[in-house]
Amino acid sequence: MGEDRHYDVVIVGGGPAGLTAALYAGRARVNTVLLERGVPGGQLLNTEAIEDYPGFDRITGAELAQRMADQAVKFGVGIEVANVTAIRTQGDHKVVETDNGTYQADFVILSAGGSPKRLGIPGEAEYQGKGVSQCAVCDGAFFKNEEVAVVGGGDAAIEEGTFLTRYATKVYIIHRRHEFRAQAILVEAARQNPKIEFVLDTVVEEIKGSDLGVTEMVLKHAESGERRSLKVGAAFIFIGFLPNTEFFKEPDHLEHDQLGFLITDNDMQTSVPGVYAVGDVRSQLTRQITTAVGDATTAVIHAVKQLETKQHHPTTVPVDAWGEAKKLAGG
Ligand code: NAP
Repeated sequence: MGEDRHYDVVIVGGGPAGLTAALYAGRARVNTVLLERGVPGGQLLNTEAIEDYPGFDRITGAELAQRMADQAVKFGVGIEVANVTAIRTQGDHKVVETDNGTYQADFVILSAGGSPKRLGIPGEAEYQGKGVSQCAVCDGAFFKNEEVAVVGGGDAAIEEGTFLTRYATKVYIIHRRHEFRAQAILVEAARQNPKIEFVLDTVVEEIKGSDLGVTEMVLKHAESGERRSLKVGAAFIFIGFLPNTEFFKEPDHLEHDQLGFLITDNDMQTSVPGVYAVGDVRSQLTRQITTAVGDATTAVIHAVKQLETKQHHPTTVPVDAWGEAKKLAGG
């Protein structure tokens, strides 16, 4: 049990951002633990193959996750299974409560990611990574010269659907309503794209496949109730994404954008001193493995500098990292 153990840094979440934070903290010889509720890897574990991580022509998500975890452990970071239930400030440190005891930390790096919303229909989980995907940039190239489907009517569905036309011969965008949540300009551009066909007022009831992956989707017209089958090699689902930020309790308040993603400064500091946000949980343009590892690198280098300052000046007031960063930036 992790009863009241104190660390310099507690990392919450073991996806690529968290594992990179662990690697950098370990190499800086900072006393660090990474807490992960399941198997380290995060969304890597849902990705069949990765071809856009530099240095690897092609690697499975599971193998990349394992390599990242092994590398962090090699530098002395412990990875513990713990489901974080609350994080709060107490004096000049943070208290991280979990189902495996309480951890105390000078700094918390929040790399808990987020979860793409799921349709919750038969076949969706079964064919995850075998044609069901939530990332066109990651998986689009695997469906070159095939017909694929996108589900959703927001910006993500339209943008990612348009991206998929680079590879697919045809992209069906299936949306449950007639009006789009996506910006009109994006929808208009998609309408002009000869490879895109909109399938509106339609819900997906089931995703079917074979040993090789997705082969078919069962669609139902929202008004007439008429069912039909659509033969596709992949189902890209973009119906929203929810950040995992539910741990923070009052009086700590993390500034976030309209969708709940955490706002940070250039050093990945949130509005709560001592708490960094990295990877998918952070408000930013993209959600890529490469950007997640970059965020984590920046956060740890900054936190290590803060720790050094603290150790050299042990009588100073609690570190106001957000304020310090503003001062350094001349703000
Ligand atoms: P979103 O704007 O919340 O749109 C989600 C879409 O999925 C909506 O059209 C919604 O339909 C549909 N949907 C939700 N639940 C569904 C279900 N159970 N079954 C079928 N359809 C369902 O999400 P988003 O497109 O991911 O965009 C999120 C935010 O990121 C937005 O602010 C967007 O502007 C921004 N953004 C994202 C990207 C990107 O990821 N590529 C790009 C630019 C901007 P209804 O409309 O009927 O509710």
